[in-house]
Amino acid sequence: MAGRKIAAVYVLHPRAVRRHLAGGDDFAAVLSGRVIDGARRRGKYLWLPAGDDAILAHLGMSGQLLITDRAEPLSAHVRVRFTFADGGPDLRFTDQRTFGHLAFAPGGAELPPAIAHIAPDPLEAAFDLAALTQLFRARRTGIKRALLDQSLVSGIGNIYADEALWRARLHWARPTETLNGPEVSRLLAAVREVLGEALVAGGTSFDDLYVDVNGESGYFERSLAVYGREGFPCLRCGTPVRRDSFMNRSAYTCPRCQPRPRRARL
Ligand SMILES: [Zn+2]
Repeated sequence: MAGRKIAAVYVLHPRAVRRHLAGGDDFAAVLSGRVIDGARRRGKYLWLPAGDDAILAHLGMSGQLLITDRAEPLSAHVRVRFTFADGGPDLRFTDQRTFGHLAFAPGGAELPPAIAHIAPDPLEAAFDLAALTQLFRARRTGIKRALLDQSLVSGIGNIYADEALWRARLHWARPTETLNGPEVSRLLAAVREVLGEALVAGGTSFDDLYVDVNGESGYFERSLAVYGREGFPCLRCGTPVRRDSFMNRSAYTCPRCQPRPRRARL
């Protein structure tokens, strides 16, 4: 997308730009003729900087940003279509369930103001380990809850939290205020490792809605060590993996590598 000039924008479903209060026609008018400088991400948000401003996207449950041959017929779920002055492929925002959205973010090239409250993500260069250690100590919660709290650290979902905790040999209910500096740094290294490997694999896809810009699914689920492996042997020590209920979802651990703390914070 970088360096390409938008020729026209077609808003095919108003829900897709519901956060753009001036409406679909205004959204299209304000973006036509702009040059996209690249693509960035924080947590679950993506943005495409264009000059000082940006196009902000949240994919919701089923949204996809697809680069598609412009001659390809529009699928029923295309909500916004961008065409380009170079005559090359379209950018199509496709969203079956319409929970996702696009918005124009004035002044948002570096960081759209609407997402400034979201904490940096561990793969950002500016990520501050000392600050995270302080936040964990102050929060007094369980470590997995803290990892999923987007105001403390962003970009870590349920699956990657379990995988990182297993690699760092920490139990999910460990109280954050009992973590020492080396433990937080071990955990952060594990988070970065898991996110990095998952990115290379194109992510973890449990259904075919999670795809990259070319419509391809990821395959990191083949590399999962504990998530979804209840009863199967731990890849490190052979002990059967345990599943606990956690915030209406699950937490998977190896009972031997990740002993439950005496004082657990659920
Ligand atoms: Zn184990």
